[in-house]
Formats: sequence, structure tokens, C-alpha cells
Amino acid sequence: MLSSGKKKELITVNFNNLRLKILGEEYSITFSTPEQDIKLIENAGYCDSLDKKIVINKNMGNYNILTHDESSKEQLVWDTIKHEIFHAFFFESGLCGYGNDEQLINWLAFQFEKFNNCLGELSIVLGLACEKEVNNQETQEDNKD
Ligand SMILES: [Zn+2]
Repeated sequence: MLSSGKKKELITVNFNNLRLKILGEEYSITFSTPEQDIKLIENAGYCDSLDKKIVINKNMGNYNILTHDESSKEQLVWDTIKHEIFHAFFFESGLCGYGNDEQLINWLAFQFEKFNNCLGELSIVLGLACEKEVNNQETQEDNKD
């Protein structure tokens, strides 16, 4: 677990140049204001699959996420990022109909941690996480030959 000081440091560094590979396409994640980006006037964020970017409103509720530290606001930012990433996954899958379904996207974004915990626990019970790690080590050693 990160101390709050380290966490803040990581967030500050990563805010400048967040990049994420989504099904092979590199997306940037940036933070902007409605004054700088008109698409943020009525949105907490958006995903632009043509420009491969996710933009998050850094002044959600008149609150600047870059200069303040409040857990509820961090959660709002995290929820928004997850939401926009699910849009990107559907767009990159060629499933634009699903990608435009806000109800589906919201459901996935809010359930993500539950999926992750469920699958993580199952992989541990089945020993799949260890198996994967062993396979990766074997692959790395094979590549050295
Ligand atoms: Zn959306």
C-alpha cells in the first residue's frame, strides 16, 4: 500500500503523460477544463476513438483534481476514467453499438472491481496466476537462447 505522500507523487507525475494500450491502440489520457475543451461542458469526460484519446474534466463540480486531494473526488475521477476506458474497449473491438450504450458502460465501470476481485480470487484458487508466472519465466529464458 502506498503512503498518501507517495500516492500523491505518482498522481502528479502521471498526470502529465498518461498513456494506455487498449487492444493494441495507444490512447492518451489527459485532463482539461470545459473552457479548454467544449466537449467537457456537460461531461465528466469523453473518449475519442478517432484521435485515440480520453479526456477527463479536471474541474468536476468546480473542483480542481490537480490541486486538491479529496477521496470522493478521486473516486469520481477513477469512475470516469474506467467509464471512458470501457468505451474505448468497445470501439477498438468494432462494437460501436455497445460502445455507445451508456447504461452498459456505466454498469461495467461500476462492476469492474467486483469482476477483478472475483477473477483474481478464482485464478489464485486454481493456481493459474502462479502457472502464468512460471510460463513467463520459461518464455524469458527461452528468449535468451
Ligand atoms: Zn459514456
